[in-house]
Amino acid sequence: MGVYYLDERQFTAFVTAVIQAKRVVGPVARRARFAYEDLESADDLRLDFDVTILPPKSVFFPPEQAIARFDGDEVSSCICPVDTVLFGVHFYDVKAIDQLDFLFRENNADWDYLCQREATTIVGSNIQAVSSRAFWDSVGTEVQPLGHDAFLTKIGSGYVFKTRTPKGEALLEYGDFREATQNEIAEAERVNAAVMGTCSERLAYTTEQIAEKVRDSFGNEKMWDELAERCFSCGSCNTVCPTCYCFDVVDSWNLDQKSGSRTRYWDACLTREFAAVTGAGGSKENFREHHSSRFRHRFMRKTTYLNDKLGGPACVGCGRCSQACTADIADPVRVITKIMEWTS
Ligand code: SF4
Ligand code: SF4
Repeated sequence: MGVYYLDERQFTAFVTAVIQAKRVVGPVARRARFAYEDLESADDLRLDFDVTILPPKSVFFPPEQAIARFDGDEVSSCICPVDTVLFGVHFYDVKAIDQLDFLFRENNADWDYLCQREATTIVGSNIQAVSSRAFWDSVGTEVQPLGHDAFLTKIGSGYVFKTRTPKGEALLEYGDFREATQNEIAEAERVNAAVMGTCSERLAYTTEQIAEKVRDSFGNEKMWDELAERCFSCGSCNTVCPTCYCFDVVDSWNLDQKSGSRTRYWDACLTREFAAVTGAGGSKENFREHHSSRFRHRFMRKTTYLNDKLGGPACVGCGRCSQACTADIADPVRVITKIMEWTS
């Protein structure tokens, strides 16, 4: 694919033309924070965002998603993909989407996710502002983002637009692009390299070192109790995480007791009831009853269990969990550093 340039004065016209042709989702300002929303005007797009409250996975995996309707023995799917352009995804969130793409494809493909994913064109964008709790420049650095179709980098008074796929290339028809010069391409590379090393939080260990120590710490009940002491099991750290993908499925019956719908909702492994099951004869069991075992499970998932499958940790360093945790105990940098330095 190619590398193009769009003058800043043409950018609004480009985004406006895409909005007129397709559904467009991008980061917009919400008070002092940012959120991905459907764009009605190009003026609302804020590519200078630091991090969004919820991750962009919600375009393909919404917090609440109808998956089937039923009437007696008849069942119909609710899959209805919409041609969508997702603008302004930072590289760490592209890495998180890559993980979900793999996980929702393996074994039984999840078409409720994959159909909307395939109908979406992802336009990455360079990081213009760094979130105070981010650490994306020191976690999983061995993994490169792959799932975007094009990438926008702001340089001087314009944008370098690098396409990766035919879907990315197809957006060229909406803007007054020209081929980028070697100087513009080099400047975009410089801008993207310069942001690395600017996060204020930092992991001082490799993925392998962390995985080994966290795995070896599984039985250290004293340490997990201490780390999770102030956890009140709200599940916020799961809810905002771009790599979390657990969901619950609920059937709702209409008054005729014959028809209804099946809906899935994001679930959170830190909540008390997540691991509660009913056994034979109505017996109840909760196999992660204590908050410290749920807290431990989250860190096992993020740093060890999925590494072989994903080629790196299941954490991309966005820092959303650190911002969302009222008790301020969810920050992976602080927790992992404590585990790495634990001596007793
Ligand atoms: S670690 Fe924080 S955000 Fe996560 S469940 Fe506990 S209190 Fe809530
Ligand atoms: S664990 Fe926290 S920092 Fe890591 S990807 Fe999830 S929300 Fe972001």
